[in-house]
Amino acid sequence: MAVIPISIHKKAFLGKDFVDFQDAKISVMSHGFMYGTAVFEGIRAYWNPEKQKLYALHVREHLERLLKSCKILRLKPYYNVDQMTEKVVQLLKLNQPKCDAYIRPSWFKSCLRIGPCVIGSADEEDCFTITSIDLGDYLNTSKGISVQVSSWRRLSDNAIPARGKINGSYVNTALSKANAVLAGYDDSIFLTEEGHVAEGSAMNLFIIRDGKLITSGVTENILEGITRKFIIEIARAELGLETEVRAIDRSELYIADEAFFCGTGAQIVPIGSIDNYELSNTRPGNITIKLQKIYNDICRAKIDKYNHVLTEINY
Ligand code: PMP
Repeated sequence: MAVIPISIHKKAFLGKDFVDFQDAKISVMSHGFMYGTAVFEGIRAYWNPEKQKLYALHVREHLERLLKSCKILRLKPYYNVDQMTEKVVQLLKLNQPKCDAYIRPSWFKSCLRIGPCVIGSADEEDCFTITSIDLGDYLNTSKGISVQVSSWRRLSDNAIPARGKINGSYVNTALSKANAVLAGYDDSIFLTEEGHVAEGSAMNLFIIRDGKLITSGVTENILEGITRKFIIEIARAELGLETEVRAIDRSELYIADEAFFCGTGAQIVPIGSIDNYELSNTRPGNITIKLQKIYNDICRAKIDKYNHVLTEINY
């Protein structure tokens, strides 16, 4: 698997200030670092070369979810969605990327203290940070990737809730993806403890059977993906396709006509095979290709009626 080269932008946000990226430092004893008590979001911004403009996708939805993740972890954010939006936009204006970018806002427990629970301690403190980088595709979006059903199970809601985007829970992702990559696959799919399909390592999953889109429900220990919800909407509006939201069995993966991952970072990633079962005759499948084209055009502000999902950044 190729290592993704990243180009980090020169400015970041930490605490209450914009700072040079090299000064955006936290202590090795920060609670968030030691115990994973932090939450984050990944937001994409798309560069439109014809218009010479950057468009950030679903900013408000991401920042609303970030506050929900804070609530689950009992973090106490000192900015609301409007204030965080302003910081994200300001950061991009400072960094002025001329290609696609990826923005990481995060709240974390910043006190230097031993003990995983710091509720009520005098120095309990939460901190906000945003970093941004240049980022093109990080999974292959054209060929139909190979995927392994992971032997690691998805974290359950009663262990670490997957609907919160909680830093510590990405150990689950790291274990699963590492196994898949070491076995020669591109990525992995998690099952729940009950054996139903949950989601990809850090993406939601759709399968297509007999012309019908199917995706796991939000009680299957998935992150309630913003892209997942949007794909359900555009499939209905643009292709007249309804999505069945229901429990998916493992064996349905093997006989699916098509399947794809989706997520803000991943975008729409066609899946070619799962556990070496080939999926579609035409790799990637027809419905996946159509959805991918619509999605990509929306992201680059090429379909006016969807411009409300974009935040135009002018610099
Ligand atoms: N599941 C997990 C575990 C993820 O990390 C992501 C990426 N944020 C997704 C699904 C996709 O979510 P979204 O479409 O909101 O980016």
